[in-house]
Amino acid sequence: MKRISVNQNTNPTCYLISTPIGNLEDITFRAIKSMQLVDILLAEDTRVSLKLLRHYQIDKQIVSYHDHNKEDMHLKIRQWFKEGKSIGLISDAGMPLVNDPGYELVLLAQEMDVNVVSIPGPSASLSALVISGFTPHPFLFYGFLPNKKQKRIEELTRLQVLPETLLFYESPHRIQDTLYECLKAFGDRRAFVARELTKLYEEGISGTLSEIAAIEEWKGEIVLVIEGFKGHTSVASECSIKQDVDRLIESGQKKSDAMKQVAKERNLTKSVVYKEYHEE
Ligand code: SAM
Repeated sequence: MKRISVNQNTNPTCYLISTPIGNLEDITFRAIKSMQLVDILLAEDTRVSLKLLRHYQIDKQIVSYHDHNKEDMHLKIRQWFKEGKSIGLISDAGMPLVNDPGYELVLLAQEMDVNVVSIPGPSASLSALVISGFTPHPFLFYGFLPNKKQKRIEELTRLQVLPETLLFYESPHRIQDTLYECLKAFGDRRAFVARELTKLYEEGISGTLSEIAAIEEWKGEIVLVIEGFKGHTSVASECSIKQDVDRLIESGQKKSDAMKQVAKERNLTKSVVYKEYHEE
């Protein structure tokens, strides 16, 4: 066991400093003060962070710290901590570590008895959760689903019966596919998309997964919030949509009637069934 009163010792400190997720007014006094006072400021993308620092008139050199150089950087950081230097970590946006680098830095700091202090501020995840209209606790923050289709499906299957409100980060070019995959895995649950939070074109979209999946054009930054499993909503049936439609065709129905019936049975729109049928 370790117990550290961070303000009662002379150990160096590692500050995890939250920065805005769009609107530059969303910065705390303490975030600015800590960026000014640290000996070394680490940032994921130095160009992005330099713009931020310039905006707040902070004159500080930034050192690059990201997933691809973190192992080399840890050798240097270890030395800086030994010399008693304090370090600040900022992300391109929002809270460090929340789908951003920093986890291993925290482990290193803890191993060296360095104080670890969070300078709290915005995160797209919690902002989306609280405006979604879904129960805010318990919730499960997933972040980005895996890129590989099979792995995504496995993960969605694992999440199928969890009662927690689910939070995903997603990119505009993948959101429509993700919505369809969620529809297949979860059935037509209620969902909420928070787009461009705190920015000029901020938008909240509420509806069922099939309604939102019908939107073709997506832009900007996105958080997808999905209502947790409530027990009464149907998890997608064992059969796929295509299997259901084919079964009805084999029993003598016309294809269009079969699609209509499957849409009705699954409480989906006909266009969703049509798309699924032709994609599988
Ligand atoms: N550390 C950040 C945080 O605390 O929210 C998240 C970083 S993650 C690399 C970037 C993703 O967060 C984006 O692809 C998007 O899914 C989400 N995101 C960030 N800013 C957002 C915003 N203003 N509106 C909606 N989603 C946002």
